[in-house]
Amino acid sequence: MRTLSKEPEPQILLTHGAQWTQEYLAASGMAAAEKKKVEKWGHKQIRETLATETSGRCAYCESRIGHVSYPHVEHIIPKSRRAELAHVWWNLTTACEVCNIAKADYWDATLAILNPYVDEVESRLVFWGDIVDWVVGDEQAELTIKKLKLNRFDWPTGVGCDCLRCARCLSAGRHRRVQSGPSSRSQYGWMLLMVTSRVP
Ligand SMILES: [Zn+2]
Repeated sequence: MRTLSKEPEPQILLTHGAQWTQEYLAASGMAAAEKKKVEKWGHKQIRETLATETSGRCAYCESRIGHVSYPHVEHIIPKSRRAELAHVWWNLTTACEVCNIAKADYWDATLAILNPYVDEVESRLVFWGDIVDWVVGDEQAELTIKKLKLNRFDWPTGVGCDCLRCARCLSAGRHRRVQSGPSSRSQYGWMLLMVTSRVP
């Protein structure tokens, strides 16, 4: 996750946003097929503008999307919680399918997932190569990483490797003992600290 800036609101939303909001709210009690007809956030102009501001990447995990999966127009505050924000520009971004599913309809105003358009992400998260860690004591950043499962290591485990630098190997469990560091730091920070101390 990196800090992002919002592009100017697409003309289609400026023109139709208020109307679409009213139609969407009015359809709240209708059948899914009827509700689908008033879901306009996937409009081409909206998707293209979102793709520009995110450089074609997921706003949360930064995966490049669109080639191997369909990008989801993501509601930062879930539409299931705040239907009136379903067509509001500042509440829209792009997310990959994995982040979209992981986040689901989570919303807690007192402990929200970091908003890359609002929060200064770079001062809240620490990047160790492919691993992202949270600044000690930052509960919101910790929640963001855990809720979105931003450290994803889906490659096969158990493959022989003596690498002491490779964060992927560490996270895959080949150096489990370093994961039991003091609770005042997250496991990944300690993992890297241990590795650093062992590398000449
Ligand atoms: Zn993602």
